Amino acid sequence: MQLNKVNYKKGLKHYNTAKKPKKQFWLFKWLMYIVSKILVGKQCKIEKINMEGVKAPYFLICNHMSFIDFEINSLCTYPARVNNITTLESYYRRGFLMELNGCIGKRKFTTDPHLVKACETVLNEYKSVLCMYPEARFSPIGTLAIIPDTLARLVKRLGHDVVVLNHHGNYLRAPFWNWRKKRKVPMHTTMTKVLDKKDVEEKSVGEIHKILVDALDYDEYKYQKDNNIKITEPYRAEGINKVLYQCPNCKTEYEMTSSGATLKCNHCGKEWTLLENGEMSANDGNTEFPHIPDWFEWERANVRKEAEDGTYYFEDTVDVYSMPNTNHFIPLGEATLKHSYKDGFTIEGHYNGEDYKISRPVIGMNGVHIEYDYCYIRPDQCIQISTTDDTFICYPHKKDVVTKLSFATEELYRLKMLEKEQRQNKTRENREEK
Ligand SMILES: [Zn+2]
Repeated sequence: MQLNKVNYKKGLKHYNTAKKPKKQFWLFKWLMYIVSKILVGKQCKIEKINMEGVKAPYFLICNHMSFIDFEINSLCTYPARVNNITTLESYYRRGFLMELNGCIGKRKFTTDPHLVKACETVLNEYKSVLCMYPEARFSPIGTLAIIPDTLARLVKRLGHDVVVLNHHGNYLRAPFWNWRKKRKVPMHTTMTKVLDKKDVEEKSVGEIHKILVDALDYDEYKYQKDNNIKITEPYRAEGINKVLYQCPNCKTEYEMTSSGATLKCNHCGKEWTLLENGEMSANDGNTEFPHIPDWFEWERANVRKEAEDGTYYFEDTVDVYSMPNTNHFIPLGEATLKHSYKDGFTIEGHYNGEDYKISRPVIGMNGVHIEYDYCYIRPDQCIQISTTDDTFICYPHKKDVVTKLSFATEELYRLKMLEKEQRQNKTRENREEK
């Protein structure tokens, strides 16, 4: 058994992320603009701030909530050519389109040594717009994900103007946990130049990080209240149990269910109604978290506590599909997925007459990609774990566990980094004492 290798049939090729990106094919730029214009129509108001005289090349950084983000981006950037940093799974069976469209194919939450060079090619050689979604997945609850400071380091290294697209309403219109059923919500996108070349040169990584986080920040439920948006669709709470998986009344996990506008804990029987103004209201009058992101953050705090007191551990049987290249998903059958502070993620299974073990330690993963309804393989919840040359899409057998796995990945990483920092400080102190 080889670590991080599956015994594939001979001749199978892995996608080469070291490939030089192509310049976006001119017809695509035009085609995407026309299609986006038709699909988005008058649903979104685009506001440009501090954008006078800004022309490609520049580094475009966007928040990420829903598929429509790509279409709005196309309207905002036209007529410039754009190269998106994208995940290989989004172009399943369409690898050639991904390349013609100028995309830089990447495996999520891996350290890719070729990424910086590809970004430099886009900005310096093609003079195009380089577009990135640093959250790396649609927002689960309509708030900004943790942004690592590696983004600010990349900005500093590239040395170009930075423009931020901040979308509003896109999550409320098609929440990640029930994206197939759309709601009628007005959308508003701001396109702002937040840093010019001189700022990038003069400001520290810490200062740039703060500017980016402030510019990207969003809270969809606050946007709903501030703009007095009523979501009247009767199915508005359906699927929210995938994110709000823990009952704040009895603390039980994974026994929440939803239907219509109601969320219910099947363990203690407590029920909540998602009101038309976006507030959650307990039917017994004792509401723990009217503002939904507060419920989400309470769950995260509970996972953080488990991580800190050493009780966090996850294990389940999963159905695994791998994606060595963009041509197909390969069913690898059942395997065991484990997640712990000591070993990070491990997937242990058997394929084509040989055992395999995939390992991703905590320190290399500041987040993980999860899906609530994955359209490419099976419309169900899954977690995607990538190595530098393969991706493993795992469908847990247990219900509603992926949100907690996502929290745990972030919290275990945070803890590991904190420990590393403390160790380094101690070594420094010891050295100074001597
Ligand atoms: Zn309960």
